[in-house]
Amino acid sequence: MYRIRLQFITGLVFFILPVFFSKYILSSPGLTLLAAGWFLFGGYLLYSYFLAPLERFSAILPEVKTAHFTEFIREAGAHLEELKNIARRAIQEKEEMASILFSMVEGVVATDSGGRISFMNPAAEKLFNLERGSALGKFPREVWREFELVELFHQVFVTGRSQSKELTLDPPLRKHLSLELVPIRPAEDEEAQGVLAMVRDITRLRHLENMRTEFVANVSHELRTPLTSIKGFIETLLDGGLENLEATKRFLTIIYQETDRLNRLINDLLDLSHLESGETELKRARIFLAPLVEEVRQTLQTRLAEKKLSFSVELGPTAVWADEDRIREVLVNLLDNAVKYTPDGGSIKVSEVDHGDMQEFIICDTGIGIPRESIPRLFERFYRVDKARSREMGGTGLGLSIVKHIIDRHEGKVWVQSEPGKGSCFHFTLPKFQQE
Ligand code: ADP
Repeated sequence: MYRIRLQFITGLVFFILPVFFSKYILSSPGLTLLAAGWFLFGGYLLYSYFLAPLERFSAILPEVKTAHFTEFIREAGAHLEELKNIARRAIQEKEEMASILFSMVEGVVATDSGGRISFMNPAAEKLFNLERGSALGKFPREVWREFELVELFHQVFVTGRSQSKELTLDPPLRKHLSLELVPIRPAEDEEAQGVLAMVRDITRLRHLENMRTEFVANVSHELRTPLTSIKGFIETLLDGGLENLEATKRFLTIIYQETDRLNRLINDLLDLSHLESGETELKRARIFLAPLVEEVRQTLQTRLAEKKLSFSVELGPTAVWADEDRIREVLVNLLDNAVKYTPDGGSIKVSEVDHGDMQEFIICDTGIGIPRESIPRLFERFYRVDKARSREMGGTGLGLSIVKHIIDRHEGKVWVQSEPGKGSCFHFTLPKFQQE
């Protein structure tokens, strides 16, 4: 448009140029005629090349303007809609991400480019025992006392390299944690901007690993003890002990007792492993405890008589929903212990308490009792208050852990109340049999 205007003005100047020389032109008729021709020809050219197209253009200009404006508005609307969709998607993704991070079991901690904590999900706050939002805006060193943990954040922040480590929190938390830290970069080629840490509580895992190692060590030890004794007595017999009939009989009796103990140990271990694996289904039925207690009492009759122990049963006709064989096993273990750990002349009593849906059974003795500090560990595998005494009595140290497993599988609870020197009461609950 600007060029057309310039050309038009130049054309106009040339067109009116003869006017400035009119003094000379008008004095000569030839020049006047030439000037008239110039005007006519120039006027025609100006009109046909500039004014006519401009006229045509200006005639359609309003239409062009309206068309452009409508198109512009339509396109702007479409862009705006697209932008709205992008923003909606971004908000939705952000909300989804936030809900994932918030509901994660693993702890997530992020620091910003200044090294301050910019995000911490509830799992991480729970892991570190922190108040909701209390760590936000702080440096790791202001939140944790553990040097190793603070140093990890610092290392990743400074070097921009990922790190993973397992560490233990200071008391009182003492949790074992597994940490994976990565730098968060806005683009591949940029320096580390912040740190993202994934934290997992592996305390239970560590505990289980320790328990497994301890268990293997315990089993080996328990198996080795009777085997060493058997081997020793056989060697003595082979070394000439056979000549003395009295000694031979005594040694063979010990060997028999030790093999019996080995047998019991292996049976208990197998039983425990079946119970723990959950392989064996409970064969639940409507059962009564009184006849079962009586059955077990009969098997203990000789020892009860030997030790002059009184045995009383106060059980009503309440039926429970349980596996008869398993509950017999519970009673055998608890009553056998009561007999084992009660001195001569003592008493054993079996009673019950009604708790609505559950029935509580109590086996009390007037035995040696259990020290207070041993009570929390009593149901652990191989735990014995007095190792030598238990072995002497033929115990495997697995009886109470079998009891606990069986009662747990019946959705019941088992616990003990005891006073050293006075006696112990073992309690367990079972679901009552419901008519329908
Ligand atoms: P054990 O085969 O050694 O009897 P248990 O698992 O049955 O193994 O019992 C674990 C330990 O609990 C025993 O070694 C004993 O110290 C203690 N204990 C169990 N029952 C009694 C009881 N009635 N009186 C005193 N101590 C008991």
